[in-house]
Amino acid sequence: YNIGKKEKYYLTFVCGVYHIDDIGLSVTAMEDRAHTALKSNDSSRSELCVCNYYADEMRSKLINEKILENRMRDSLKNKEFEVYLQPKYSLDTKKIYGAEALIRWVHPTKGLLPPAEFIPLFERNGFIIELDLFVFEEVCALIKKWMDNGVEAHPISVNMSRAHFVKDDFLDRYIQIRDKYGVPAEYLEIELTETMVFSNPQAFSKIIREIHEAGFKCSMDDFGSGYSSLNMLKNLDLDTVKLDGAFFNSKTMEDKKENIIVKSIIDMTKALDMLTVAEGIESEKQMDFLNHTACDYVQGYIISKPLPIKEFEKLIR
Ligand code: C2E
Ligand code: MG
Ligand code: MG
Repeated sequence: YNIGKKEKYYLTFVCGVYHIDDIGLSVTAMEDRAHTALKSNDSSRSELCVCNYYADEMRSKLINEKILENRMRDSLKNKEFEVYLQPKYSLDTKKIYGAEALIRWVHPTKGLLPPAEFIPLFERNGFIIELDLFVFEEVCALIKKWMDNGVEAHPISVNMSRAHFVKDDFLDRYIQIRDKYGVPAEYLEIELTETMVFSNPQAFSKIIREIHEAGFKCSMDDFGSGYSSLNMLKNLDLDTVKLDGAFFNSKTMEDKKENIIVKSIIDMTKALDMLTVAEGIESEKQMDFLNHTACDYVQGYIISKPLPIKEFEKLIR
């Protein structure tokens, strides 16, 4: 179809199908299942016509999500969400420099849930905004406690979902919380993921500028996991680039050419005056490789898994 001038406008046709294999089911229940199949459509698919067939797992997934959704607000009130800290280790000083805050859900019936089980849902229903602010407040309270007790304060980074950016004043609540605890902004870093840049580089630059104007540090998370390029990095005013673990997997480490490429990427990032963190580092071999590069920090199981706050405090002590 031609809309306006010569723009083509593509309509996607999605249908949900329930194959009737239980004739005892009411028509309404059958319709429900076809509808479940329709709603389970993965919007990342680019076909113009998609036909989704109902499967029992779709229903159990939706039911499971409903259970999580029903509980999420009470869980936040009851402190069933817990902030874990994963140390970042300095290759220069050989000491723990800071940490990344990672959320865990200690669900009353399901036990300890990793973020992959609830963050995609919370990004869809918007609850991630409240959760991110909760994490940020816990981090500010902790740094204040360290400062009050004369303990050396360590900088902490928090993950920020793209869901925040729908509001122009999304940083105001972050600033209010930071001021409430009187935490110097240089202790706080906001991690953004590279997929956000790809969808809108101009908007991304503006967000980085605003984060800096508010006084926070800003890093790009998971660099190298998607399509972002070094060319794009040079146009972004970031403090830190977190190199995705995929750069350091065993296949890459064994290939001399790949090694040279990874080293060059680290060198180029340094030349752009950005700090580098290597993520997902698990082996001595990877550490050995990184010790021969200009990389600044390491975050991975080789140093430590994400820890409950008390255990992190023990570690830095
Ligand atoms: P991320 O921000 O890239 O965090 C790093 C993830 O890698 C963490 O997974 C961490 O546990 C894992 N990791 C660290 N070292 C290693 C290693 O040596 N080997 C392996 N295999 N994995 C390692 P986690 O905690 O499951 O978090 C997954 C993702 O969920 C995070 O990726 C982040 O994108 C998101 N996330 C976590 N907490 C929050 C939050 O408070 N807010 C938002 N918006 N997203 C969060
Ligand atoms: Mg992160
Ligand atoms: Mg990451």
